[in-house]
Amino acid sequence: MKRSLARTNAYDDGTGMWPLPEADLREHGFRFTIADVRPTRDVRPAAVAGLFYPAEPEALRARIAHCLNASGPYGSDGAARPPKMVIVPHAGYEYSGAVAAHAYARLSGRRDPVKRVVLIGPAHRAALRAMALPGVDAFETPLGQVPLDQAATADLAGLAQVRRDDLPHAGEHSLEVQLPFLQEVLDEFTLVPIVAGEARPAEVAQVLVRLWGGDETCIVVSSDLSHYLPHVRAQLVDRATAQQILEFDARLDPQQACGATPINGALLAARDHGLVPRLLDLRDSGQITGDLRRVVGYGAFAFDPP
Ligand SMILES: [Zn+2]
Repeated sequence: MKRSLARTNAYDDGTGMWPLPEADLREHGFRFTIADVRPTRDVRPAAVAGLFYPAEPEALRARIAHCLNASGPYGSDGAARPPKMVIVPHAGYEYSGAVAAHAYARLSGRRDPVKRVVLIGPAHRAALRAMALPGVDAFETPLGQVPLDQAATADLAGLAQVRRDDLPHAGEHSLEVQLPFLQEVLDEFTLVPIVAGEARPAEVAQVLVRLWGGDETCIVVSSDLSHYLPHVRAQLVDRATAQQILEFDARLDPQQACGATPINGALLAARDHGLVPRLLDLRDSGQITGDLRRVVGYGAFAFDPP
């Protein structure tokens, strides 16, 4: 049976925290397995709809609008060009949606909109060497299907650090949670989805540079910041991480950000292209849930063209 997603799982209780060990998930009655959401036909179905974001289209649109409104006035922010790259968190929308919205607001309402999104995030559920591109034709969410840029993925096939593999994508939430936001703030666009496992920053950067393009292409890097620290400590760690990101210091480790690998590669590419980094928002789950004992950090960054 496809998508037998139990409602009594670890996320419904409000943690929004991932990764959890498999055993932990089972303890919480989590019955979802990767096999449940293996793509059928040529579409990767949504794996975490109803868990990380509402599964009902109208509720999902309302939630995204709420997040965008909470991030302040949106629509074109007056900048002539859209950000070339953003870094956004990937917890449940209840937790990090408003932080992510700070970045997405900058992509919306543009006359010359982004037509292609290179979306890269870390592998949480699959041990993965290098980077995985899916073999499917489209990714699906409750808001519809997003077609993949097949020419771009074919172009990457020659790189040793990239392989075609649907499995790391099947249950992975770090890319999926970004899609409904993108579907709401952009018109038609194609997608190059990359799950990053073990890879050197230069290997990630090489992939991103190959896909660089112009204003029609935006790179979206998906990552949360620190995990499970007390709020006060998390604030210190996350501020230091944000400073590193703003200084293009591509030496983040996975304790600082689960998406350290994609961020490090993206920072190298961004620095080489002279992008201008900007911190848009920095918060943690404790500021949202009130539980300050054990939090996850969330940051939103934009990198504008020079
Ligand atoms: Zn993560």
